[in-house]
Amino acid sequence: MSLIVQKYGGTSMGSVERIEHVAGKVAQTRAQGHQVVVVVSAMSGETDRLLKLAKAVNPRGSEREFDQIASTGEQVTIGLLALALDKRGVKARSYTGPQVAIRTDSAYGKARIQQIDDKRLRADCEAGVVPVVAGFQGVSPDGSTATLGRGGSDTTGVALAAALKADECQIYTDVDGVYTTDPRVEPKARRLDKVTFEEMLELASLGSKVLQIRSVEFAGKYKVPLRVLSTFVDGPGTLITLDEDNGRSAVEDPLISGIAFNRDEAQITVVGVPDRPGVAAAVLGPVGDANIEVDMIVQNVAGDATTDFTFTVHRNDFDRAHEVIKRVAADLGAKGVRTANDICKVSLVGVGMRSHAGIASKMFKALASDGINIQMISTSEIKISVVIQDKYLELAVRTLHKAFNLEQARA
Ligand code: ASP
Ligand code: MG
Repeated sequence: MSLIVQKYGGTSMGSVERIEHVAGKVAQTRAQGHQVVVVVSAMSGETDRLLKLAKAVNPRGSEREFDQIASTGEQVTIGLLALALDKRGVKARSYTGPQVAIRTDSAYGKARIQQIDDKRLRADCEAGVVPVVAGFQGVSPDGSTATLGRGGSDTTGVALAAALKADECQIYTDVDGVYTTDPRVEPKARRLDKVTFEEMLELASLGSKVLQIRSVEFAGKYKVPLRVLSTFVDGPGTLITLDEDNGRSAVEDPLISGIAFNRDEAQITVVGVPDRPGVAAAVLGPVGDANIEVDMIVQNVAGDATTDFTFTVHRNDFDRAHEVIKRVAADLGAKGVRTANDICKVSLVGVGMRSHAGIASKMFKALASDGINIQMISTSEIKISVVIQDKYLELAVRTLHKAFNLEQARA
């Protein structure tokens, strides 16, 4: 017998019929002899609706009150699922985050879990009762309800699995796993049986939105085996694991796990800045002060006494960043500022890169064969990212998918 935490997302809880379906799946897991703790999201669209109501009344209202309102979506679905389980003869009990108690800090709207009291959940499991816990929420030090940030139910699931030392945390969603890339761009994209936490973090932060990033960090830190599966289609899903060799044969050793991309980038270049200590700080300091997140940064080796300095930001921040940089460039006596809004980022991710040379050149050759010009390159141990013109995004993803044989199953 194992202890399994199952988390069901908003689409899975989207209607009475779907909640009945989820109850059937939980009942099935119980019937196989496992202990189950369930975590649920609000019905899809509900959290948006609640926040819209709150903001219609007072757009500048307090985060505490927004959380009070937004957290109610999950309070409804826990009760509904407990009722549906009960109807099937499965003993169940619903809990809000505060009732568990899941203790958080008081950063309303983006609270972090600090401690979980697992007594009631353990007692229920021992007594054959399925606890159904509201995702996305906990209780702040002063006793108020605090939410964990959008998509936070994933984090609740992982945190409960860590606290209970569960054998697996299963995240049920509307896709049947993590794919080599977005199937809407490359129909030959393939579900991965396994991916490492590190790879998943890169894929998630690079724009493949299957899991809340924080939940992946949490699972990696506490070594919780995490599996992404579909609520609607039976299958093994994707296991997110610590083990780099797990499931990969030495012979076929796949170098690349997936291709992530991000369409929402914009690029700013300060041309001809003096090459002396402190310039990078002088350029990026004011951008940070304006609360704008910088993604890639490239500074060339200076040929003469000046150099070019290029960085990318989210497209939403572009106008603000541009204003800041125009001032900075003038202060520094730079030759000018160049910008590009029509760019995107495409990244290859894979732990196999650590032990294999030649992946970057293979990537660049493949892009060149399609006449795609690379504007910026950045690398980490398990990732190579390029900035290209956004009209080439689909072509680049498909070309790389083919070049690295990603449609072929791992052995
Ligand atoms: N219901 C919350 C949201 O929509 C939390 C979640 O679904 O994970 O963000
Ligand atoms: Mg979600």
